[in-house]
Amino acid sequence: ETIGRWFDAACERHAERDALVVRHQQLRLSYAELRQRVDALACGLMRLGLKAGERIGIWSPNNAEWTLTQFATAKLGLVLVNINPAYRRSELEYALTKVGCRALIAAPSFKGSDYLAMLADLAPELAQCAPGRLRAKRLPDLEFVIRLGAEATPGMLNFDTLLRTPRADDRVDLARLGETLQFDDPINIQFTSGTTGNPKGATLSHHNILNNGHFVGEAIRLVPGDRLCIPVPLYHCFGMVMGNLGALTHGATMVYPSEGFDAAATLAAVAEERCTVLYGVPTMFIAQLDHPDFARHDLRSLRTGIMAGSPCPIEVMRRVVDKMHMAEVTIAYGMTETSPVSFQSATDDPLERRVSTVGRIQPHCEVKLVDEAGRIVPRGEPGELCTRGYSVMLGYWDDAAKTREAIDAAGWMHTGDLATLDAEGYCNIVGRLKDMVIRGGENLYPREIEEFLYRHPKVQDVQVIGVPDPKYGEELCACVIVRAGEQLGADELRAFCDGEIARHKVPRHIHFVDAFPMTVTGKIQKFRMREQMKELLG
Ligand code: ATP
Ligand code: MG
Repeated sequence: ETIGRWFDAACERHAERDALVVRHQQLRLSYAELRQRVDALACGLMRLGLKAGERIGIWSPNNAEWTLTQFATAKLGLVLVNINPAYRRSELEYALTKVGCRALIAAPSFKGSDYLAMLADLAPELAQCAPGRLRAKRLPDLEFVIRLGAEATPGMLNFDTLLRTPRADDRVDLARLGETLQFDDPINIQFTSGTTGNPKGATLSHHNILNNGHFVGEAIRLVPGDRLCIPVPLYHCFGMVMGNLGALTHGATMVYPSEGFDAAATLAAVAEERCTVLYGVPTMFIAQLDHPDFARHDLRSLRTGIMAGSPCPIEVMRRVVDKMHMAEVTIAYGMTETSPVSFQSATDDPLERRVSTVGRIQPHCEVKLVDEAGRIVPRGEPGELCTRGYSVMLGYWDDAAKTREAIDAAGWMHTGDLATLDAEGYCNIVGRLKDMVIRGGENLYPREIEEFLYRHPKVQDVQVIGVPDPKYGEELCACVIVRAGEQLGADELRAFCDGEIARHKVPRHIHFVDAFPMTVTGKIQKFRMREQMKELLG
């Protein structure tokens, strides 16, 4: 099925239910109202002459317009290109030209950076051209720049103007167009987080992401009436697929607490909107649990949720169960290239399994673990995780070579992650192949050491990386954030390891920091930490 047809059916079935609550815009829409606006926008974009298969970018933090755009473009068969709100001029130029966007929807600004000024720098031609007739030297494919907000900007269209009530014949054309779209057409290009280097553009189909949203929702037993708090970015698949499509396929409500992640706003949204489900990457849950206002908010409406995106420490999972009342919380594992989720625990898995593994493979998908030679590893041993099924992307946009590296001839996606599987199929993510530390010929998995150090009561967060070492090739380095108000020294932390973990796993270097380098999705960029530490250790 296509997203557009599914969307129409869901809006009819759940017409009176809350579809969307955007707290920072004081906006509430029922499914019927959502459909009305989405159809208006789709007709507006259609009138501009944008056609199925063409690319349209969106560069905006979380807001209602993002979601209207997601569903309107799906109804038109336009390929939505999610542009990271943290991007600056040259990254924007790269993304827009890489995939050849004909249109761009842009917020005026976010977190103090002026998007419109950056656009004007990139395309000075905007000042002279009529809206929709851009010919810019540096952005040769871009014709339409559509800005959010009420003000007029030279050369740009206004989003709100496109939302005007459509003509009857536009509606007929829209319905007719919807019938011609195919489930395996590309519908979305998402750039990977850039945790290990340059972001790659994964091309995804209706089939990829609609199924993913559906099965993610099934694992947490979403039902109509569930209220889903989405503090994760919509530009990333966590927000737009697991969040928006998870909600849509189950008639649940999407609740956005703020433009960008804000722990206090998230806690308030859960309490005041009586949310039953909460999503987040581990650092977001930690920020809420440690927030000074934490105890002031009544979170008892929560039932379940998903922690995902990076390793989910067992301690954090336990605190989420105990303190946030999320007795049925699950962990999901995935990557942009697999739309994203491929493993998820289910609400009825035993608690012990749910907090310590990423669960089992999603229905209708396959998994295998292989060694460097591509041979399947013995049960219980770490190997590179490969997955296959409906969720594997169509490919990296316009990059056949990279696609072939990632997806082999038999359709297996090579994830670049190391994992183990137990006899019942529960999966443990051991770490990224690229993060594995090889010390004197021995493979060390930072994740295991992080889990151990994390148990120290004064440690708020910790990351372990490999740094060059003349003797062993690589040595372990722990970067530690100490809990507010506490004092902790390297010797005390080493003493804590003494006799508990093997000598060679005790980090040779211990370094105290205030924060880790992160992507906007809240993921820690170990490649940057390695660069920083290399410099520091000289
Ligand atoms: P890039 O590919 O650009 O370096 P990225 O891999 O971080 O960035 P994403 O596709 O957003 O981009 O993230 C997928 C990766 O996140 C996975 O390959 C895995 O390493 C990590 N990950 C996701 N979920 C989990 C989880 N539950 N536990 C451990 N790691 C996870
Ligand atoms: Mg990746």
